[in-house]
Amino acid sequence: MKIRFWGVRGSISTPITAAQIQSKIVAVVSRISVRDLESENARQNFIANLPEYLYGTIGGNTACLEITNENRDHIILDAGTGIRMCGKQYTKNQNEVFHLLFSHFHWDHIQGLPFFDPAYKPDTVLNIYSNYPNMRRFLKEQMQPPFFPVPIESLTKQIIWHDIKDSVPFTIGGMQIMTKAMFHPGGSHSYLFIENGKRFIYATDVELRQIDFDRTEENIAFFENTDVLVLDAQYTVEETAQKEGWGHSAFCYAIDFAVFWHIKHLYLFHHEPMYDDKKVHTILKSAQWYSDYVCGGKVTVHLAIEGQEIHL
Ligand SMILES: [Zn+2]
Ligand SMILES: [Zn+2]
Repeated sequence: MKIRFWGVRGSISTPITAAQIQSKIVAVVSRISVRDLESENARQNFIANLPEYLYGTIGGNTACLEITNENRDHIILDAGTGIRMCGKQYTKNQNEVFHLLFSHFHWDHIQGLPFFDPAYKPDTVLNIYSNYPNMRRFLKEQMQPPFFPVPIESLTKQIIWHDIKDSVPFTIGGMQIMTKAMFHPGGSHSYLFIENGKRFIYATDVELRQIDFDRTEENIAFFENTDVLVLDAQYTVEETAQKEGWGHSAFCYAIDFAVFWHIKHLYLFHHEPMYDDKKVHTILKSAQWYSDYVCGGKVTVHLAIEGQEIHL
């Protein structure tokens, strides 16, 4: 399977500011020496060695991932603002079939849907899955005046609603999928995907609790020995003390959790909107230090970055 991040920001979309771009330019210019400008090669080398937080950005769109399975199905996880650019890939295609899976219905996970161009094409088939029987009403209500001028009835008539249940597996193109309820205000559901023995978990908007570390049959079947886990890690440890019950996790707990369940790769996700690229990369450094020196380097820690792909 191939996994692509279209939106990684938590809570609200967060465009990069002019001040942030200016501070990147100042930092880059202050690093340049005369030797870096001597030749095309030297210039390329200078650019290639810039720290990631200066050369790129983690991105400001809210939650959206796209999985392409072996059957080449389009499986989209959440419809945050990232789904807009995901849809642009398919505007010229005909008779496309999409599978849209929702973790829950907070704004940052649904607001992009009215901007998902392929949904307006009559020949598009849109399969929508969630654990919430009210999903039809939730999505209809955000597409009505005064919130949005175009009603949900303007979308393709070929919408197929799938009411799914935790621990009851289903398949899309041979890929096995299962959900599990996690702690979050109003609830949220994590997804496990299995294909060719490879396991991927999408667990956003999750405040890890002690019960998530219990070695129950259900937890073992869901979490144990996963290859890649995308997990909510919005907070620092200090913040979790102040924001208990807000429904998000600290990066240290995310690492503890990944180590406990023998997970190979952890992607920190749902980045705090108050944090700029430098701060989020600082969190990654702290997380890697914590993983290496406190947890014995048993899990490789990454940042979820807009546009990045994982091949599993
Ligand atoms: Zn969220
Ligand atoms: Zn939420």
